Amino acid sequence: MTSAEEIPLPYRIIALMQERNRLFTYPLEQIASDIWSARFRCTCCGACCTRSVNNHIFLLDRDVDTLKKIDPAAYVPAPDPEFCDQYGMVYVSGYALRMKNDKAGSCWFLDGCRCRIYDRRFSACRIYPHMLRRSAGVPGHITWKQFARKGRHGERNPELTYDDCLILAREIKEYENAYLTHQIAFHEVIHEFFTVNNLHHDQKMYRKRMQHYERGHRLEMKVYYDGRLEDCMSEKPENGSKPASALPFAGTDRE
Ligand code: SF4
Ligand code: SF4
Repeated sequence: MTSAEEIPLPYRIIALMQERNRLFTYPLEQIASDIWSARFRCTCCGACCTRSVNNHIFLLDRDVDTLKKIDPAAYVPAPDPEFCDQYGMVYVSGYALRMKNDKAGSCWFLDGCRCRIYDRRFSACRIYPHMLRRSAGVPGHITWKQFARKGRHGERNPELTYDDCLILAREIKEYENAYLTHQIAFHEVIHEFFTVNNLHHDQKMYRKRMQHYERGHRLEMKVYYDGRLEDCMSEKPENGSKPASALPFAGTDRE
């Protein structure tokens, strides 16, 4: 991953906007036809609801709003803060689902193989594993690919109709758009906050803070949520918890 130090904030914002533009032009029918050819059905094995498959599950603001009504203890600042200023304050783009400290690192809501809040599950959970992701196709040209872990879980769904696929394709695009819009807004707020307060990202300080965290200490941080930066303390690192990429369902599953 390229560090925040290497790419100035305005360029990062432009890159994210370009990514969102590419998403807009990605044909809905292409996604629907990929879903159609895979005809995937979840067998509710629960594997994707664990840290061992997905390092963390990112929550959009609307998910956090829902979560606050279900169980306010069930969310934590997303891992892998993107920025750290020269005074050691770290900044992260949002919240993630809390994982339990069991061997697999199960989602807070996972009970055996069953999701306790299935009807109210969160945006990323609803479309998983049909997620779009950026991948380098032709050198220098980024394309969108979809469907993580194809063929490695679930079963074939002969009842799926093409109309179902189109509905899901729309949800996927809507989710990815919401995710990118969140990331753009986060970067814009950071840019403004740093400018107004004469701050800058300090990579050396960032490394020091991450080492501090990995030694078992909590971090003082600001989390972007609901259009502003909230003061927060990180959790202590759990077993197997490592700084991870800030993707909606982040981890080995998205390879
Ligand atoms: S999406 Fe896949 S990994 Fe997740 S519960 Fe369903 S079958 Fe298991
Ligand atoms: S909320 Fe439910 S579906 Fe989403 S990760 Fe947790 S257990 Fe899985």
